[in-house]
Amino acid sequence: MAKISATRFAPSPTGHLHVGGARTALFNRALARKLGDSFLVRIEDTDQARSSETATLGILEDLSWLGINWDIGPVHGKSGGDPNNIGPFYQSQRLSIYKGIVEQLLETDLAYPAFETPDQLDKMRKDARQKKVNFRYRRDKSFSRTNAIARMQREPHVIRFKMPDGPIKVTDQVLGEIVFGDEHVEDFIILKRDGFPTYHLAVVVDDAFMGIRHVLRGQEHLNNTPRQVALQKALHYATPLYYHVPLIFNQDGSKMSKRDKDKVVRSFYRETINRSEILKDLPKLLQKEVTLWEKDKNRQLSPKSLSSLADGLEVNLPEIDVEDFRKAGYLPETVCNFLSLLGFSPGKQDNTDENLERFDQKYFCENFETAKLGHSNAKFDRKKLLAFSAEDINNLTPDSFLKHWEEWAKRYEPWVFDSFGLAKCTLIASALQSRCKTLADLTSQKGPGAFIYLDDRGVVFDDKAVAKFLMKGEPSGLKILSEVRSVIANMITFNPEDVELRVQEFANEHQIGLGKVAQPLRVAVTGIAASPPLGVTLNLLGKTSVLIRIDSCLSQHLKGFSQN
Ligand code: GLU
Repeated sequence: MAKISATRFAPSPTGHLHVGGARTALFNRALARKLGDSFLVRIEDTDQARSSETATLGILEDLSWLGINWDIGPVHGKSGGDPNNIGPFYQSQRLSIYKGIVEQLLETDLAYPAFETPDQLDKMRKDARQKKVNFRYRRDKSFSRTNAIARMQREPHVIRFKMPDGPIKVTDQVLGEIVFGDEHVEDFIILKRDGFPTYHLAVVVDDAFMGIRHVLRGQEHLNNTPRQVALQKALHYATPLYYHVPLIFNQDGSKMSKRDKDKVVRSFYRETINRSEILKDLPKLLQKEVTLWEKDKNRQLSPKSLSSLADGLEVNLPEIDVEDFRKAGYLPETVCNFLSLLGFSPGKQDNTDENLERFDQKYFCENFETAKLGHSNAKFDRKKLLAFSAEDINNLTPDSFLKHWEEWAKRYEPWVFDSFGLAKCTLIASALQSRCKTLADLTSQKGPGAFIYLDDRGVVFDDKAVAKFLMKGEPSGLKILSEVRSVIANMITFNPEDVELRVQEFANEHQIGLGKVAQPLRVAVTGIAASPPLGVTLNLLGKTSVLIRIDSCLSQHLKGFSQN
């Protein structure tokens, strides 16, 4: 058995890293730091059909992005390594270890082969339903070990663990003592037909071999614990201390799950009147998939199809996976801080009655205590996350903000730096930082910088802004705009201060308020009534673009103006 003592994060690589998983990883790292243990990552890829190396790499990459580095585990990037020689850390590479354990259990009659086919098992379940009794697989009284061992050579089989009779007691460090009754006492499978262990066997063996003395995980695993405890007893392994942390719920009280994306699209699709037109615009293969999906509420679209359909419907998918929050432009520190509060309360802020909410991971690791873990459901409050994000974005130094944006843009919107270049992007970042709640706001079509990326002749004008700032008054905004155009055209330097100065001088000369000049200009170049300070707005666009936009605005609206 391993001489080390470690906590672990053990994801199954069947998709992206879910925020619940990231929370488990954060808590385990903090617990390890608190205990002076190592923090280990193990890839639980025994479900061959659903696991993939792409998913594994994605999970490890997301952990690294969050800054959750592991001391022991798969080596990708800088984290990990195997200083104690307890790996490999992919369960699919540990099959011989599990086989050895299974043989040990078979020899001592604590496990046995079972030969029912999936169809036979279905029938047994059906019969139990008809008799209105719970189906629990138990070894038949007539079982003959000698016969079974002989049949093993000839017939496909699984290996089942012989569960002891009677209820099983689990002591959870968060939830207290829980007694699992008879319904949990089933002889469950530990080795599948394909020679792969089931999750229960692999997790118990690995936890023991890898020195895991504290298992902190989501409450969705609570019902798995009695089986794992029974296996530990049979194998004479110490039972680790268990900490089951609350599930994460949406604000509406539903459990936050990967299915939420499907649910949102489904309900939007149902309410859409022109579904058939949207369907027609989709690729043929997807049309088929969507038609089947529409008819069967239990069916789920693949992530790729779901996102194509969501695009067609113009519906935003809820953020569920770490990748979603990354793409939405949250900073890793913000996500970590927010997730650390889900099922953990750090207590009151110094000298106040307020709960402490804002802290970094150094603080979290130093102040982590299992006594502060919660019992009740954790609510995922998206508004709070956005407020955290706005605060963190605003607290960044301009340099760091630019760096974060550049890194984000490289992954999600590479065109910005490619087409504008670093100098211009630096200007954009400094002009918009205080107006952004996320990094994605910098390029969002609804964000404060949307006007920058418009085609100069394609500015879309807000009717209200046009009516208020261009059409009204004597002289009208349009008239002022046509006059101030030549001032702009004659400017030689075009920095924000010069622009502000020239516009102010123009207002003074004409004895009108600054707003009477600034707003028509702003509407002309952005289409709307709000943007960063005028000097910055015009400077960001550059003189040539500003003039094209003014001309295009004048030609579009002077027509309307004279017709009215
Ligand atoms: N591999 C399991 C999962 O991803 C976790 C197992 C455990 O924590 O015991 O849900």
